[in-house]
Amino acid sequence: MSSAIHKCPSCGGNLVFDASVNKVTCGACHSQFSVSEIESFHEKKTLKDAQYKAQTHGYHCQNCGAEVVTETETSSAFCYYCHSPVLFTDKMMGNYEPDYILPFKITKEQAKTIFSKWIKKYKSVPKGFASHDHLEKITGIYIPYWMSDASASIYKSGIGDLVTMKRKGDKVYTTTKRFRFQHSCIVNIAHVKTIASDKVDQALINSVESNTKGKLEDFSTAYLSGYFSQRYTILREDVRKTHEDVIQRCVRGVADELHYYENVQYDRDEEVIDSIKWSYVLLPMWILTYNFKDKVYVYALNGESGESFGEIPIDYSRKFLRFVITFVIILAALLFLFNH
Ligand SMILES: [Zn+2]
Ligand SMILES: [Zn+2]
Repeated sequence: MSSAIHKCPSCGGNLVFDASVNKVTCGACHSQFSVSEIESFHEKKTLKDAQYKAQTHGYHCQNCGAEVVTETETSSAFCYYCHSPVLFTDKMMGNYEPDYILPFKITKEQAKTIFSKWIKKYKSVPKGFASHDHLEKITGIYIPYWMSDASASIYKSGIGDLVTMKRKGDKVYTTTKRFRFQHSCIVNIAHVKTIASDKVDQALINSVESNTKGKLEDFSTAYLSGYFSQRYTILREDVRKTHEDVIQRCVRGVADELHYYENVQYDRDEEVIDSIKWSYVLLPMWILTYNFKDKVYVYALNGESGESFGEIPIDYSRKFLRFVITFVIILAALLFLFNH
């Protein structure tokens, strides 16, 4: 086998054959595998990806660039995002099977009710925004994420001072004691996530992001029935650095809390990321978009927690009309009082 074409099963990094241990080692996460483990992993993965491709259809929206996957060719042939007509195709490029999924809990009916309650708070929205026909366009879509789970080790040993202060009367006494210390610990950082699509409004989606801990299921295309799924457009390689930085910051945070000695002289001061496991994950979202004066307004509702956030189109002509009506009513009331 050639190491150049084989990727690490845990993190997707490049594998190199290490003759000294007769194993294949990952340059990025340092995991080790036997050659047969790698072969069977890649065989299984290729098979699963082929099945996934065969079981799904998709469209690429010519208008807004959305890349969407479905389990069946649904009757609705409009793009969930820009509402343009779309054509389904069986040939989704570079499409591979997600590892985990957070299934929908909020039904379409519940999503519509939550939206209707939310929109009632806002006056002066365009008529069509809250209409029944528009509300029917609310679409359940799985948003793709790159997720990493990391394990790190911290080793700290050396000598340091513990300084205590005591007040007696108006005098302050400082005592300094020197200690030898040795600390080591393992830190597990779970579910660092980044949206894997640049075709969605990331800030908006982030504002209603799910807590996924303990809730993810192994992926099956069965979960896609009746829903869409946005295909990843951002490669895992492109978020690797961001995730590593987040993980490093977490480890640093733990390391900083490990002791409170001052004037420290270290014999050993190490923070090592031992492994990073990467997964491709889908999270549920109800999305309703609205085109108003050449801008797409997005309403996003977390399909698991029901939390929602949206941009409000304001129809200034309605706002003005409302103002005029209020003004006329007040004027009429004043005239009435004045004449009686
Ligand atoms: Zn790796
Ligand atoms: Zn579109």
